[in-house]
Amino acid sequence: MSLFVAQDLVKRFGGLVATDRVSLSVEPGEVHALIGPNGAGKSTLVNLISGLLPADGGSIVLDGVELTAMSAHDRVRHGLSRCFQITSVFRGDSVRDNLLLAVQAHSGSSFRCFRRRSTEAGLRERALELAHKVGLEDMLDRVAGTLPHGVQRKLDVALALAARPKLLLLDEPMAGMGPEDSQQMVELIARLRAEAAILLIEHDMDAVFQLADRISVLDYGKVLASGDTAYIREHPEVQAVYLGT
Ligand code: ADP
Ligand code: MG
Repeated sequence: MSLFVAQDLVKRFGGLVATDRVSLSVEPGEVHALIGPNGAGKSTLVNLISGLLPADGGSIVLDGVELTAMSAHDRVRHGLSRCFQITSVFRGDSVRDNLLLAVQAHSGSSFRCFRRRSTEAGLRERALELAHKVGLEDMLDRVAGTLPHGVQRKLDVALALAARPKLLLLDEPMAGMGPEDSQQMVELIARLRAEAAILLIEHDMDAVFQLADRISVLDYGKVLASGDTAYIREHPEVQAVYLGT
């Protein structure tokens, strides 16, 4: 059974059908990339999935639980986390405090049985663990807003991981990055697949072809093609509308 299934999602903005009966699934451990020209409806689709926008039709199921009518916040609690194209980092706080806040926000019932001191110790340990996962263990005391863009994006990923997502939505994680930061982000995402399935929106086709198990191509709000990387590379319509060959 697929981990995640979106079925016939529809979103209209006035007369514009930005999402036109889109269906999409993600398997456990899979990186599923979503590509398509500007205005194709990629961000709208991610907003529908994360619950930032209400859908006009269709359904969303994660790990057997129907999320369609849930708030964005409840979807996170059920295992659906996202990183934002614009980073959600608290710029005036240290990396450590950003991580602690995120960990605390998601600690919920798992710490209820501890006394306060050990709860704090547990939170700190978890924050450190997240810093290690994204390679920020040497930057814990730095003020987040003063860090280079590429490092802030890593922190953004760590904040999304604090919720222990089953599915992680990444909307253009390499946007605005140079080649070196992009390559580091590719390596980070490759490591993340051990923890969560990933729905990746990305323009950098080198990154997409390195990371994706499957690629879906959106065009005018519809899925134009969906398949493995070899299939998408050779797909004539995809080449015409997107790969530009
Ligand atoms: P992409 O992320 O693939 O570039 P978007 O999902 O941002 O595409 O946009 C898809 C289409 O929906 C575009 O034509 C865009 O202008 C339109 N659109 C997106 N958000 C809104 C909105 N809030 N109100 C009206 N139109 C929107
Ligand atoms: Mg977009």
